Amino acid sequence: MTINSHPSIIALDGPAASGKSTLGLRLADSLGYLFFDTGIMYRAITWIALQRQLDLRDESTVTELAQTAQIDIRPPSKKDGRACDVVIAEKDVTWEMRDGNVDANVSVVSAYAGVRQALSEQQRRIGLRGRVVMVGRDIGTVVLPEADIKIYLDASAEERAKRRYDEIIARGERSDYDEILRKVIERDHIDSTRAVAPLRPAEDAIIIDSDKMDADQVFDQVLALCK
Ligand code: C5P
Repeated sequence: MTINSHPSIIALDGPAASGKSTLGLRLADSLGYLFFDTGIMYRAITWIALQRQLDLRDESTVTELAQTAQIDIRPPSKKDGRACDVVIAEKDVTWEMRDGNVDANVSVVSAYAGVRQALSEQQRRIGLRGRVVMVGRDIGTVVLPEADIKIYLDASAEERAKRRYDEIIARGERSDYDEILRKVIERDHIDSTRAVAPLRPAEDAIIIDSDKMDADQVFDQVLALCK
């Protein structure tokens, strides 16, 4: 369904740190659509599991958590680069959920079929309302295969690691480029080789390689596609 000749459901997939969130947020803002970063849900489940010291290798325990966890998404309370507040049991976990420990474990959690089923169902229900830019790994292939436009945003692992490194430094935190690169490659490997909903472009996705493009150029190109 299209409204005002704009696509109503925009699926935006791609590997870790490819700039999907920055692009998706700008796109949603300029179209007046909801921005929904589905990675938040997988990260939140992982954060809770780590917090409760659950055994992450125990698929049924982690799946039960995904089926019952209450994750709250609220408008941003701070201007520190966040798109929204992520709140779990009244604790603001927006940045904690992006720390190295969650990064290192989230792909294990997100490979479980039961976890994916629980979270994808919620994502699909929200996405089908339309006027949404949904960001993830499997939006165009599994969550919303009927999306009006599917973008697959790619970039080399080195470029993505550099962008992630620069972001962390800009927040005034310490960072290690080689460590980030290693983790990005490892996460991509697990995400793209898992049995259920692996990371890959949908057959009808438009693939954009952002290696030699800055954020503005990517945004202009995708906005033009949407219009
Ligand atoms: O996008 P982000 O890097 O925050 O995603 C964190 C992790 O969540 C990914 O590495 C992947 O394992 C998982 N994920 C997923 N499917 C999605 C979104 C995220 O498996 N739709």
